Amino acid sequence: MFKKILVANRGEIALRVQRACREMGVTAVMVYSEADRDAKYVKLAEEAVCIGPAPSPLSYLNMPAIISAAEVTDAEAIHPGYGFLSENADFAERVEKSGFQFIGPTPESIRIMGDKVSAKQAMMKAGVPCVPGSEGELPDDPIIIKRIAKSIGYPVIIKAAGGGGGRGMRVVHTEAAVINAVQMTKAEAGAAFGNPAVYMEKYLQNPRHIEIQILADKHRNAVYLGERDCSMQRRHQKVIEEAPAPGIPRKLIERIGERCVAACKKIGYRGAGTFEFLYENGEFYFIEMNTRVQVEHPVTELITGVDIVKTQIMVAAGEKLPFTQRQIQLRGHAIECRINAEDPYKFTPSPGRITTWHPPGGPGVRVDSHAYTNYFVPPNYDSMIGKIIVHGDTREEALGRMRTALLETVIEGISTNIPLHRELMVDARFQEGGTNIHYLEEWLAQHKR
Ligand code: ADP
Repeated sequence: MFKKILVANRGEIALRVQRACREMGVTAVMVYSEADRDAKYVKLAEEAVCIGPAPSPLSYLNMPAIISAAEVTDAEAIHPGYGFLSENADFAERVEKSGFQFIGPTPESIRIMGDKVSAKQAMMKAGVPCVPGSEGELPDDPIIIKRIAKSIGYPVIIKAAGGGGGRGMRVVHTEAAVINAVQMTKAEAGAAFGNPAVYMEKYLQNPRHIEIQILADKHRNAVYLGERDCSMQRRHQKVIEEAPAPGIPRKLIERIGERCVAACKKIGYRGAGTFEFLYENGEFYFIEMNTRVQVEHPVTELITGVDIVKTQIMVAAGEKLPFTQRQIQLRGHAIECRINAEDPYKFTPSPGRITTWHPPGGPGVRVDSHAYTNYFVPPNYDSMIGKIIVHGDTREEALGRMRTALLETVIEGISTNIPLHRELMVDARFQEGGTNIHYLEEWLAQHKR
């Protein structure tokens, strides 16, 4: 096992990895930007290194600064968390070339999966069902583009091969609009992701977002840890996640889970990963793979009892997965609410000082957050300040626990989206379960204020 790991991230996930390291008796070296100097996980760290000023290109995206922090502290491995450099194949390569273990898949796996066109091609080859669409990148010829769109059937969605974070997508309903949409998405993709390649997919009308969590070691063992339902989204970004997905027959989940495991073995995948699917009319369609730990990993931890972050570290150190597929048993139901520092209905960011912080507690309640009373939420980063996750024997019990937890939570000094979560937890349709990816936006449009 490693003696020392550098945590190349910030916020709640930096704290999450620090906790896993502590439990395993591994020293976690924390890095921080000048804006995060007062973070509690930095204060409580055995070692911490400032890697630059607040803007992330100068700190959390600054590869040389992070690698030298690992060098000066004698760390053996680097955990990238999520976001920032976690899915950057060049970073993973530089980490390994500098003699450190990257806690994640190989740079080659990241590269294949980071490009959505090559990811889809690899998945099709591995027998994973994909959304019907163009065979690869769209060519420039308008006649061919129209022909492809026609054969897929409108509406179609134009997506950037290098896209992420819900950006770089455009829905097209008619042939008259398709060429212009392709050109605009290409221009945007080139500017935002440095890669103008786009592809085309059938636009599914009312799907749910269902994803499969997998874990794989360096000895070709892989398991899936059930599914998560992340359909409650705003602007293609997840707001509430839960596991298991309400109303989907276990047989279907098992079948797709086994496909994902087979695909991992086929591509020699190692570490934690998530296969994201759209689910409509009993069918799964692969959209992309995330080659890192995800924000919503705790719901899976609560229903399986598996510590995903500790397992990531173990397999990176070369250990075998400590369980087989048969030993993965799902128990109860878990729900996660992402807590953002933002206006609950206008969604404008609300950075600033938290004057009161009372997190909830009680049976089945978990809070993953780096915030505390008097913590200053910096304006430089993502607005998520933590997550409330609950577990119950049934979905109903989990919903009750989440309602109670949200009621108990007191955060003052900044605005948060807790009022929105409180309303959603008592919404009749959400309580029924199985809402599709458009539900939250439709709900917000109806509850305009
Ligand atoms: P990103 O990497 O930016 O998160 P994804 O490919 O994972 O992009 O898609 C994000 C979300 O966009 C999905 O969860 C879904 O809501 C929507 N989406 C993507 N592809 C399609 C499609 N073919 N049909 C309908 N909705 C889609």
